[in-house]
Amino acid sequence: MPAVTVLGLEGSANKVGTGLVRDGQVLSNPRRTFVPAPGQGFLPGQTARHHQGCVLALLQEALQEAGLESADVDCVAYTKGPGMGAPLVTVAVVARTLAQLWNKPLLGVNHCVGHIEMGRLITGAQNPTVLYVSGGNTQVIAYSERRYRIFGETIDIAVGNCLDRFARVLKISNDPSPGYNIEQMAKKRWLTRCWHQENAPQRISASLSRRHSSRCWWRSRSGPWRTAAHRRPSSWAVSAVRARTVGGNMRLQEMMQIMCAERGAKLFATDERFCIDNGAMIAQAGWEMFRTGQVTQLEDSWITQRYRTDEVEVTWRD
Ligand code: MG
Repeated sequence: MPAVTVLGLEGSANKVGTGLVRDGQVLSNPRRTFVPAPGQGFLPGQTARHHQGCVLALLQEALQEAGLESADVDCVAYTKGPGMGAPLVTVAVVARTLAQLWNKPLLGVNHCVGHIEMGRLITGAQNPTVLYVSGGNTQVIAYSERRYRIFGETIDIAVGNCLDRFARVLKISNDPSPGYNIEQMAKKRWLTRCWHQENAPQRISASLSRRHSSRCWWRSRSGPWRTAAHRRPSSWAVSAVRARTVGGNMRLQEMMQIMCAERGAKLFATDERFCIDNGAMIAQAGWEMFRTGQVTQLEDSWITQRYRTDEVEVTWRD
């Protein structure tokens, strides 16, 4: 079977990315991040304008870095949802235009499935139980009978969203990300352990960081009992995530490592190149879909802000 090259376009939140993947090989994966001022979140309109301003340059960058031309691309994949409306539309319009201009098939991809498939590709974990921690969702997910099933999730606020809001209230910098800065402040607290040298934000950051890591850890720890009727996890992947923010949070990874050691499971954690939203993860999920015959017709190439992981029929796994 000839090699299949997929272009992936991602822009569901404050990152916009273009990635090229050919049969499991990431050829290029540039991205840009919209960073609002401290105390502000990323508003849909502003974020969409940011993406509009750089998506074509990113496309050129991806092709140049991969040494490819448009004729080498077999399929154009884009994020169909979930995410913020205006940024999603921006990227979908670019994807639709390219597909028609280049006369290539189009594929709408579920963002969360993109994270899971990228995690599987990068870590080599074949069938992991996934702790998915991001701005929009905090879930325990496992594959069963052609779906990524959700075995547990937060119903109040996703961990990433909680960190974002916390940073806004305290006017913590959004550069490179609120979660990263919160973790650094928490580390200072853990390192000094001295109530006289620290300030209130450090103390609260440490408390929040420990709290959300514990919450994820506890759910993951109890999750296998719930999933036991379906499978006995031998591997865990920490997926998704605003990289150094949530899933990339070192404390969370340490706690997951301990849980896995206790249960004889292996932990797979994705690094920040691939767990922060990026184009290659959409290309990789698109590649899996495309090779099993899926294509999105032009009239069906809309976006949706709500799109649960278990709505997708997983045609590429046994
Ligand atoms: Mg994401």
